[in-house]
Amino acid sequence: MTARVGVLALQGDVREHARVLTALGAEVTLVRRPGDLASIDGLVLPGGESSVIDKLSRAFEMREPIRDAIAGGLPVYGTCAGLILLADRLENPIAGQQTFGGLDITVRRNAFGGQIESFETDLVAPGSEPRFDPPVHAAFIRAPLVVEASAAVRVLATLPPAVGGGIVAVARGDLLATAFHPEVSGDTRFHELLLERIAERRVGGAR
Ligand code: GLN
Repeated sequence: MTARVGVLALQGDVREHARVLTALGAEVTLVRRPGDLASIDGLVLPGGESSVIDKLSRAFEMREPIRDAIAGGLPVYGTCAGLILLADRLENPIAGQQTFGGLDITVRRNAFGGQIESFETDLVAPGSEPRFDPPVHAAFIRAPLVVEASAAVRVLATLPPAVGGGIVAVARGDLLATAFHPEVSGDTRFHELLLERIAERRVGGAR
């Protein structure tokens, strides 16, 4: 069965995600209204500006429905601003900024200042997971960093020690988040993880 994947289309790099998901065989829905959540098997929260997506989600009355969907076990993948939106805690929110939450992590927004505000690097995958060989080559664009993660959260990738070794990809249950943009660099492995999670839930009879 074709997976029906929504991309939250309030702001951000919606088209890049839609392109990757379509190439992987998913049927993509652009999610703008609460009703759009009813017919999807999974959701992508794109990169962009997390505080803007937060404000728009409240203006469009999407915040509570998305929180409910996350609580209900909808598989969700957030990149960059999307990772920020999945964090339970922000170290440096702008005034009044909220997240959807779901991942027991603390995130620092715009963690890489000055010269390396945007950069690319090969990542380190703890536990030498075969999926991440060859290593993920990641693009960081005004990227956040996971500065604290509860023991229940699985670390999928970190920066190399030479760039500080920080946590940049995490998962727990139905939630997956990366501080970088595989949809920009053409790496499909994280979107594949989302689609696998969706398939597993179907086998498990969750819907
Ligand atoms: N700096 C942005 C934020 O705080 C995230 C950047 C991105 O998504 N590329 O939301």
